[in-house]
Amino acid sequence: MNKLLIFLLIILCACSSHNNDSTKSWMESNDKLKILTTTAMIKDLIEGVANGHANVLTLIKGELDPHSYQLVKGDDEKLKMADLIFANGLGLEHGASLQHYLQSSPKVIELGDLIFRDHPHFAIFESGQVDPHIWMDIELWSLAVPYIVNVLSEHDPNYEDEYRANGEKLMEQMIAQHQEVKRLIQEIPERKRFLVTSHDAFNYFTRAYLAENGEVEHNLWQKRFAAPEGLAPDSQLNPYDIQLIIDHLSQHNIRVMFPESNVSRDSIKKIVSAGKEKGLDVVIANDYLYGDAMGRPGSDGDTYLKMIMHNALTISRYLNKNP
Ligand SMILES: [Zn+2]
Repeated sequence: MNKLLIFLLIILCACSSHNNDSTKSWMESNDKLKILTTTAMIKDLIEGVANGHANVLTLIKGELDPHSYQLVKGDDEKLKMADLIFANGLGLEHGASLQHYLQSSPKVIELGDLIFRDHPHFAIFESGQVDPHIWMDIELWSLAVPYIVNVLSEHDPNYEDEYRANGEKLMEQMIAQHQEVKRLIQEIPERKRFLVTSHDAFNYFTRAYLAENGEVEHNLWQKRFAAPEGLAPDSQLNPYDIQLIIDHLSQHNIRVMFPESNVSRDSIKKIVSAGKEKGLDVVIANDYLYGDAMGRPGSDGDTYLKMIMHNALTISRYLNKNP
C-alpha cells in the first residue's frame, strides 16, 4: 500500500470516528435542545447563537452533495430524535427521501424560504428556479440569524436574552467579514474580475463581491460568473454548453477556472481540452473553492466564515496574477 493511500485512510478513519463520536453524544444528550441541520453552514450559525445551550448535529456530512443527498441508515433516527430541524430550503435539498421528510415534518425550519419570504428582492433566479446558494453572500446569510434567535428563544425561553445578544454579535462579525471580502475582491482590477467554477454555486458571491459599481442596479453583474454545470452539479455537458463557456472565456480573456472541493472536475477538464483545440490558453487552478460544503476539520475552510475567506483569498490570488 503506498504512503498516500495509508495517509488518506488515516484521515478517513479519523473523520469517521469524529463523526461517530459527535453523533453518539448528540443522541445521548437530554439536557439541551437537540437540533439537526442539513448543512454545516447552518450548524455554524446555530452554534453561534446557542453558544453551548443546544446540541447541534449536521445530517449531510463532510463533502457530500446537499443537492442529491438521500437518507441513509441511521438518518431516520436522527430526524425522529431532533427537537428542531433547520434546512436551507429553496430546493437545495432535493434528494427525494430527504425532501419528502423536510416537506412533511412540522419540526422543520427552512431558513432560505423565510429569508426570501421577507426579503424577496434578494433572490436570484436561474432558468425560472430560485438559486439556493444563499450562504455565498455573507450579508444575505446573516439574515438567517434573527430567525434562529426567534426559534431558539421560543423553544428555550430561559436563554432568550443570551440568544439575542449572541445573534447580534454574530451578525456584526458577519457584516465585518462581508466588508473585508468585498474589499479584497474589489482590489482585483475590474477587467480581471471574472469567475468560472464547476457549478452554479457562486451567483450570490459574484453579485455581492465581484460586481462593479452600478452593475447590480442595472442587472449587469451576471457576466462576471459562469459555470458549465447548472444549479445542481450533474456532469452532463453537451457540446453547446461547452461552446458557451469557451466563448465566455475568450470574450472576457479569462485564463483560469476554479474547481470546487466537492464537485468532479470532469466538466472543467472537458472545457480545458476543448478550449486547447481552439487555441485557448486556460488552466484549472491548483486550489479548489468551497461551494456546497465546508472543509474538513482542521482545514482552512472548517467554519463558515473561514470557508468564504478561503474562497476570497484563492480567487484574489489567482485573478490578480492573471495577465
Ligand atoms: Zn450547489
